[in-house]
Amino acid sequence: MVNAKERIDTIYDVVKNRNPGETEFHQAVWEVIETLTPVLEKCPYYAKQKIIERICEPERQIIFRVPWQDDDGEVHINRGFRVGFNSALGPYKGGLRFHPSVLLGTIKFLAFEQTFKNALTGLPIGSGKGGSDFDPKGKSDNEIMRFCQSFMTELYRHIGEMTDVPAGDIGVGAREIGFLFGQYKRITNCYESGVLTGKSPSWGGALVRKEATGYGLVYFAEEMLKARNESLKGKVCVVSGSGNVAIYAIEKLQQLGAKVVACSDSGGVIYDERGIDLETVKEIKEVQRDRIKAYVAQHGEADYRDKGNIWDIPCDLAFPCATQNELDEKAAQTLVENGCLAVAEGANMPCTPEAVDCFMENNVAYGPGKAANAGGVATSALEMQQNASRDSWTFEHTEKRLRQIMANIHRDCYDTAREFDLDGNYVAGANIASFRRVADAMLAFGVI
Ligand code: NAP
Repeated sequence: MVNAKERIDTIYDVVKNRNPGETEFHQAVWEVIETLTPVLEKCPYYAKQKIIERICEPERQIIFRVPWQDDDGEVHINRGFRVGFNSALGPYKGGLRFHPSVLLGTIKFLAFEQTFKNALTGLPIGSGKGGSDFDPKGKSDNEIMRFCQSFMTELYRHIGEMTDVPAGDIGVGAREIGFLFGQYKRITNCYESGVLTGKSPSWGGALVRKEATGYGLVYFAEEMLKARNESLKGKVCVVSGSGNVAIYAIEKLQQLGAKVVACSDSGGVIYDERGIDLETVKEIKEVQRDRIKAYVAQHGEADYRDKGNIWDIPCDLAFPCATQNELDEKAAQTLVENGCLAVAEGANMPCTPEAVDCFMENNVAYGPGKAANAGGVATSALEMQQNASRDSWTFEHTEKRLRQIMANIHRDCYDTAREFDLDGNYVAGANIASFRRVADAMLAFGVI
């Protein structure tokens, strides 16, 4: 008789062999399934029905050519992806990423993570992810529009409000969602609001969606601190990135009395000991679409560290909000030595497995992205609800729902960890709680 641990090892070997070279996907799968041994031991029926094997295999993967012309008339060819990973709980749901580093393995790791994140929200959404190796940096608005139109000209036949509902991610914000929706509407002859989320509130988007991932992250961190009889008040924070997630994490941290002293982009790090001036960051990133380096032109006292390591800056709380594997073991050790109390992931899988081990070993409260950054997709699901009922909610009402959802996710993770004698282990709590939710729906549907 194969024991649960051996079964998990075998499943992982099959995943690696079947998806060669997709190291981020392997990493994401391992991080989840290695925590599922106690569930298989408690409920052998999941193993008999090969639920983990099924959950690790995407339901569908689409790859397509995206040709487009730049402003000089030159033709460029990019590659588009959409992976529908799991639809046990609802239509595929997850963002689109436009970044030159995007490969099929990147999208698969993100879509896999999304399965568990979306389940944690408790809302009826399955999981997916998509994107392209297109680089939006330095492109004109017209080039972005032509690219989005070409991308949607293939994607439209695979999505729909009951099938697959994409949203934004790195490189895809309200501007891109607007171009994508415009092309979808034009091709399908249908004003299907619920087919994309992250829309502008003036034409079907939800208030708070823009802020949701960052705000939700801070609410989750607040719950982690409460569980340790701590609070955000007066805490010194470091937030990596200066994109959508980072900006609104900084905003909520400041609103709740914490002090954010550093943020970054892929060029370098800004350190402002007096506290980051968020209006300047918003102007640079949201309006001018410039580099974060421009901050020092307006704030002479701040320090710009070209290609600097943000995790060297001493802090009480760390929020990695840029990209995957941005915080490694060495950075984790530095954070621990500097007395960091908690780390909450705004980005997807920003901490390497070794970094996560380092936090756990040193009793740093660690909130994995699939739980801590679920506020964005949760609010996307609220956007779908509003679209379906032709309604629009106030900012206050939506933010209240978001805060409640984040508190529920925290409680689910916390209580599940405790149920398995793993107190304070949010990784195991998040993985087990979400796995059971997806697995039970899959069991109900039979072998499909
Ligand atoms: P975004 O608005 O495009 O911002 C990304 C930020 O990260 C930018 O400051 C960017 O700097 C930086 N960055 C990207 N790649 C980098 C790299 N290789 N090295 C260093 N910095 C890098 O994207 P976002 O929506 O904030 O997403 C950030 C992360 O959160 C991603 O992991 C995403 O999957 C995750 N997430 C987002 C949402 C959401 O609602 N947006 C929800 C859940 C999770 P440059 O401008 O220099 O590239």
